[in-house]
Amino acid sequence: MKEGLNPQGLSERINRLEESATIVMAVKARELQDEGHHVIKLNLGEPDFSTPKHIQDAAVEAIQSGQYFKYPPVPGYPELRQGIADKLKRDNHLSYDPAQIVVSTGAKQSIANALLSIINKDDEVIIFTPYWVTYIEQVKLAEGTPVLVEGTLDNDFKVTAEQLANAITPKTKAILYSSPCNPTGAVYNAAELQALAEVLKEREDIYVISDEIYEFINFEGAHHSMAAIDYMKERTIIINGFSKGYAMTGWRLGYMAAPMHIAKACNKMQGQFTSGTCSIAQRAGIAAINGPMDSALTMKEAYQRRRGLVKERLDQIEGVKTNLPTGAFYIFPDISAYFGTSYKDYTINNSDDLAMYFLQEVHVSTVAGSAFGSPNCIRISFAASDEELREACDRIEKALSLLEKRNQ
Ligand code: PMP
Repeated sequence: MKEGLNPQGLSERINRLEESATIVMAVKARELQDEGHHVIKLNLGEPDFSTPKHIQDAAVEAIQSGQYFKYPPVPGYPELRQGIADKLKRDNHLSYDPAQIVVSTGAKQSIANALLSIINKDDEVIIFTPYWVTYIEQVKLAEGTPVLVEGTLDNDFKVTAEQLANAITPKTKAILYSSPCNPTGAVYNAAELQALAEVLKEREDIYVISDEIYEFINFEGAHHSMAAIDYMKERTIIINGFSKGYAMTGWRLGYMAAPMHIAKACNKMQGQFTSGTCSIAQRAGIAAINGPMDSALTMKEAYQRRRGLVKERLDQIEGVKTNLPTGAFYIFPDISAYFGTSYKDYTINNSDDLAMYFLQEVHVSTVAGSAFGSPNCIRISFAASDEELREACDRIEKALSLLEKRNQ
């Protein structure tokens, strides 16, 4: 065995991969909780609601029927893919053959399938920043090169057509973003997507990976997809899933809708990785996709109320700059006014310091913006009860009020 830098014989691939940024915070939060502190967890990327009852019942029935204990078809049960195709028609006015749908073990795996199926070494993938952490790591795993294009708070964290045009090179292979966005809550409207599409019009070799997992958590207007622009449909890979809208994170169920050749490639890919996703989760998914949407709507209304509550409170705190999230359940305030301050042994130089300070001093867990490519911000999830959110904002305000400018 070779000695030195890599004595355990791990691959360069795994050594290059970043550990999930939230893990350190989660471990610390658990420690504090075990010590008896009331930690308010606003670091999580998941609904605080339970999966709707009719979906749970479908899973129980599927188990009790005894019919679903064998390997399912690799791209998903036909009824589920038909249900997804029907949904795309009904909700998004998009026509897909069920053969263009690939069901996976979460949207995360759908994105991995897409990247591993289209990216060659050194291909560039333009990632709209702030980005969902996983994008960068998956592009690296596929041996692609992430190219970051930053949407600023002044523009609601959205990337403009001009910025996109400037980032495109002959090596650009794909563009990857989420709308509604994790971590900013930004939602691209039809006109903004059209403007981005204009830039891509002549570059038929560029794919768009459009992560629409927060589709049902949209506080303003309709959801828009790049695939709705006619000349973009054949180059767009829609990513979606059940985790957020149906509160099904633990079930691990996601899907893509894509051009036929991409769907076939991803089917081949996951045939070698997972042999398809859990049969029972898929049966639950059929009930979700064809079932009533009232629970999803109730959850959305709760997030919308909480968004208002958190934004209003944060806007009262000096030095905290926010935008109004129009989707998902995150707010992404710029807290850089507090860099260069200190309190007791804490020195705040960046968003990592501030997130750790909030956790240790006032027991509120958030995620530093550095994890999303925006070191001036922190991500606060409002998938928590109104009481917890009020209490958390009070604690954050108190913690910030204790910080004093250091003498330079
Ligand atoms: N995309 C985004 C933008 C997300 O925030 C998440 C979950 N945090 C996912 C994809 C992954 O979803 P899933 O649970 O379906 O893998």
